Amino acid sequence: MTPKNIVVIGAGFSGMAAATLLAKQGYQVTVLEKNDQAGGRARIWQDKGFTFDMGPSWYWMPDVFENYFALFGKKVADFYELKRLDPGYRVYYGKNDTIDVPADLAALYQLFEQIEPGSSKGLREFLKQAEYKYQVGMGEYVFKPSHSVTEYFDLSLIKKSLGIQLLTSMSKHVRQYFKNPKLVKLLEFPVLFLGATPQNTPAMYSMMNYADLVLGTWYPQGGMNRIVQAMVKLAEGYGVKFRLNTEVQSIKVDNKVASTVITNKGEFKADFVIAGADYEHVDQSLVDKPHQNYTAQYWDSRTMSPSSLLYYVGISKKLKNIEHHNLFFDEDFELHAKEIYTEPQWPTKPLFYVSCASKTDKSVAPDGCENLFFLMPLAPDLQDSEQLREKYFNLMVTRFEAITGESIRDHIVVKRSYAMNDFKTDYHSFKGNAYGLANTITQTAFLKPSMRAKKIKNMLYTGQLTVPGPGVPPALISGQVVAYEAIKLLEGTA
Ligand SMILES: Cc1cc2nc3c(=O)[nH]c(=O)nc-3n(C[C@H](O)[C@H](O)[C@H](O)COP(=O)(O)OP(=O)(O)OC[C@H]3O[C@@H](n4cnc5c(N)ncnc54)[C@H](O)[C@@H]3O)c2cc1C
Repeated sequence: MTPKNIVVIGAGFSGMAAATLLAKQGYQVTVLEKNDQAGGRARIWQDKGFTFDMGPSWYWMPDVFENYFALFGKKVADFYELKRLDPGYRVYYGKNDTIDVPADLAALYQLFEQIEPGSSKGLREFLKQAEYKYQVGMGEYVFKPSHSVTEYFDLSLIKKSLGIQLLTSMSKHVRQYFKNPKLVKLLEFPVLFLGATPQNTPAMYSMMNYADLVLGTWYPQGGMNRIVQAMVKLAEGYGVKFRLNTEVQSIKVDNKVASTVITNKGEFKADFVIAGADYEHVDQSLVDKPHQNYTAQYWDSRTMSPSSLLYYVGISKKLKNIEHHNLFFDEDFELHAKEIYTEPQWPTKPLFYVSCASKTDKSVAPDGCENLFFLMPLAPDLQDSEQLREKYFNLMVTRFEAITGESIRDHIVVKRSYAMNDFKTDYHSFKGNAYGLANTITQTAFLKPSMRAKKIKNMLYTGQLTVPGPGVPPALISGQVVAYEAIKLLEGTA
């Protein structure tokens, strides 16, 4: 019998993970990707000897990557070298006012004690709970397809949920343990990865603090794109075909069955379709109205994760006073959050982040140079123009120079901006979101857009807008969950 054809739309982490698992199961898999590189949000941009990771820069939850490659009898070390960063990152609260987060736990407890006497005891308890949440969350919850609330009715899960304070907010949870505003900011920061404010994020996600402070911040030598290269190599080894520069224009559905995927490079017959491109784009633009899962109003009422203003900057000097990851928390977090979520506008006094991968990795910048990546979170769907971008670049550089005491403006060799309009053009990103749908209390688990295409029998959705949520590890998991669901449907065991 000829194996069934599976078409995967989008070569992001979720699409590639699904494709590889399905190919391993014996299906013929083709990945259709509109851009000229695989990796989705984790593409690279190269110029004058610099290599910039365009999206993710924090490698957290190394176990998720290890577990993924283990599904194929491989190890991360078979593909790239991982290094634990120490310090994991630096937080700037102002000039000469910084915290370096150490890799060593004993040093971390000491640091907390210095900042808020007595807080190391609180940190121990906080992290013990966070570890429990990580084990339960990453062990059981995260692999649920979340088709329905009933998946969560299992008694043992309910018992565990009570212990992990599903309904408290992160903001309240952190404040139960810590008073010092610096420590509060430090512990609230990881939930920003989930695209929502600490007030609006369930305390279940203090598991992110465990990921941050205990499991640590890692770096794949060569850059984050090494994960993409590893995944492509693995996928191709199982016979997955990547069609780059191939943009899906529509999905033909007959009698509730997707039969053909139509692209700018021709038509692809499909027995099954996995949609790994931005969910809203597939649902609203690639599928005709009778087969859409949701309405335009539904999408419009979702809380998207922020968009971002990014700058990729290569400079012709070495910097002493910064680390690999640098968070500029020297302004009011509440105000910036308000200007992202409740009163969307370009921020008055933004917080921002700078990564300098060349601190750890010589291969990403020419000798004597540094590779800088600026990221400023922004409300999605704001007006976007080169003048606005430039205004905020100047603001970030001025603050960077004042706080670190390092001049960079006159040493810029390459510079490229990236924001809302690019997210829309490059990824068909809804409202220019950078990392999908926010993990708010009302948009978690079975309350997220469903993996199931309710009106198409042989199609499923994956990626950062469905379960489990935004971030590279969740996207990798989303791809695995969708592959198992597809196999059940294809093999009639659903
Ligand atoms: C600036 C930034 C910083 C981030 N930082 C981190 C971080 O430090 N750590 C972390 O873990 N996560 C981070 N993330 C989040 C993480 O990168 C994403 O959650 C993850 O990469 C999403 O993967 P995905 O497979 O869901 O989607 P995507 O990566 O978006 O993949 C979807 C793919 O579908 C393609 N596509 C869209 N429409 C079509 C079409 N019509 N036809 C064909 N192909 C199409 C797109 O081109 C894209 O390649 C960051 C994201 C951004 C943008």
